[in-house]
Amino acid sequence: MTNPFFEEWATPFGVPPFAEIKTEHFKPAYEAALKAHEAEIAAIVGDANAPSFENTIVALERSGAQLDRVDLVFSQLGSANTNETLQGIERDLAPVVARHWNAIFLNPALFARIDALYQKRAELGLDAEALRVLERYHLDFVRSGAKLSLADRERFAGIVERLAVLGTEFGQNVLADEQNTVFALSEAEVDGLPDFARAAAAEMARDRKLNAPYAVTTSRSSVEPVLHFARDRAVREKVWRGFVKRGANGNASDNHAIIGEILRLRGEQAKLLGYESYAAYKLADSMAGTPKAARGLLEQVWKPGRQRALDDRVALQGLIDEEGGDFALAAWDWRYYAEKLRLARFDFDENEIKPYLELWKVVEAAFHVASRLFGVSFVPREDIEGYHPDVRVWEVQREGKTIGIFYGDYFARAGKRSGAWMTSFRKQAKLDGAVIPLVVNTCNYLKPPEGQPALLSLDEARTVFHEFGHGLHGLLSNVTYPRIAGTSVVRDFVELPSQLYEHWLESKPVLARLVHYRTGEPISQALLDRMTAAGKANKGFETVEFVSSAILDMDYHSAAISENEDIPSLERKTLDDIGMPEEIALRHASTHFLHLFSGDGYAAGYYSYLWSEVLDADGYGAFEEAGDPFDKETADRLYKYVYSAGGSRDYAEAYRLFRGRDPDVKGLLEDRGLADLIPIEDGVAG
Ligand SMILES: [Zn+2]
Repeated sequence: MTNPFFEEWATPFGVPPFAEIKTEHFKPAYEAALKAHEAEIAAIVGDANAPSFENTIVALERSGAQLDRVDLVFSQLGSANTNETLQGIERDLAPVVARHWNAIFLNPALFARIDALYQKRAELGLDAEALRVLERYHLDFVRSGAKLSLADRERFAGIVERLAVLGTEFGQNVLADEQNTVFALSEAEVDGLPDFARAAAAEMARDRKLNAPYAVTTSRSSVEPVLHFARDRAVREKVWRGFVKRGANGNASDNHAIIGEILRLRGEQAKLLGYESYAAYKLADSMAGTPKAARGLLEQVWKPGRQRALDDRVALQGLIDEEGGDFALAAWDWRYYAEKLRLARFDFDENEIKPYLELWKVVEAAFHVASRLFGVSFVPREDIEGYHPDVRVWEVQREGKTIGIFYGDYFARAGKRSGAWMTSFRKQAKLDGAVIPLVVNTCNYLKPPEGQPALLSLDEARTVFHEFGHGLHGLLSNVTYPRIAGTSVVRDFVELPSQLYEHWLESKPVLARLVHYRTGEPISQALLDRMTAAGKANKGFETVEFVSSAILDMDYHSAAISENEDIPSLERKTLDDIGMPEEIALRHASTHFLHLFSGDGYAAGYYSYLWSEVLDADGYGAFEEAGDPFDKETADRLYKYVYSAGGSRDYAEAYRLFRGRDPDVKGLLEDRGLADLIPIEDGVAG
């Protein structure tokens, strides 16, 4: 039996031959790739020659190519086109792959070679990029425990494996509570819900074989429409309570004990590595640098955000009183009355804008921006196959050369997890001749019936631009070494190219291209004005729910936490300290805070979105100051120092080279409509 992972891919640009890749190919492909990688590492370690950049770092860069090939395809299919068999393979492989990497990072002979090079790095005659790669490797190994004593290394490896198990359990528990908490609803109880939400709730009731016309679960996509639109206050309350109790129900999927153990183990991990807290360890490899710097930004935004929310609270209560509602605004009322307030204040209904935001027109607009800014063009390649019939493929060209392949996978379906993300099947590199990147954007838009247009909301259109910004970061990458290519940058910098790109959606030249899907008319100025004004609505609420979660993250990872810590009172303490308005809940409460506990990617890192927002709001200002959203000189600097540069340079320096100065938080406060608010001094700390 042939296995495509054991053969060269005789496809255009060597793209994965998805039609030939079958589920049963993955296990043998992984087994062979892990073995091959082990042999490559053994050869580097066993090299009798003294360590050199070439025989150690470059050799490491070349190693694992077979593993990458199967891993990158497998992980995208596991997220975007999965099934029970693939999920089973995923569970089996996770600990195996974790152990594989532990063995590499904790290999003393391998680290000795890297460390020897690092110690004399100034004398190696390396260019700036190569030096950066050597430093990056050294840091990767040190942060993964390479400098620990033998006894500590064993403990460290044990912690890493235990954390992997706990993280998987945490995520599965949240999923279990989301799927098992089902509210059956009558016709009267869904009063107010828009058609799309009603249809989804009807399908849910059919799926669950309930003796009711409608049902919702406690997943975010199911809950949000109820909180925004359900007229029945009791329905909003019970759904809200189910939502905020995910992972906190005292049942088999309760996450409290797991959180305690994770936090304690992370604290121990950081101590072993010589840091005073996990937050200090995590932030040491970020733009922010220290927990203090990250917290400083959070506090700066918290105060005006909270003030705006308190002002809005008064207005929302006013609406309730006007209606003759004899109750005080509660957490399950906020979104519902905020919708009403938006309509009353700005006369803007989202449904008015949707006909101008047809999916393929929005994608074309994202391409157009890239061509104006960076001179890239996109050629449809119907002959190149995706992993699903809905996936569309483009060849990306710049200065007459093919620089990458772009896959767009935009429609929701069974087997695709929710959310939106960018990933690649192959990273850019120039180490052994030009390797072009293969980049994917995945979204979850409702697929319309055959022949009907897919009309997006403004938020969904923003997401197209956001993910495409990440995509360009991968596609425009122009570095030698794969370790620092494209999006391989620190967490609080990676959202800059994506969040920045969102700004162009609402630029004049782009809006002019977004014409009504049926009439071909552009959006009227009156509608644009109302849309822009409404864009600042409810920002107090959004800021409060996000920033409070980010502060909780920093508190959890800054303190010494013992195994039996009472998690609810820790959470309560943070909220009391910052003066959390009681009508607003954390965007993610502890027991379902997947960013923090289902893996460590965003642990002590949830602030990153806000950190990058400072950069993107300030960065777009450079184009505004130039008076042209496509100003050539500004765009050239953006290409050179951000979109093509990967991690080849210090991030603060890269930003400074693009912008001509350090970022200023003012842009963020202006974009959120908070710039005019003086911090309130009411005795509340933080
Ligand atoms: Zn992003």
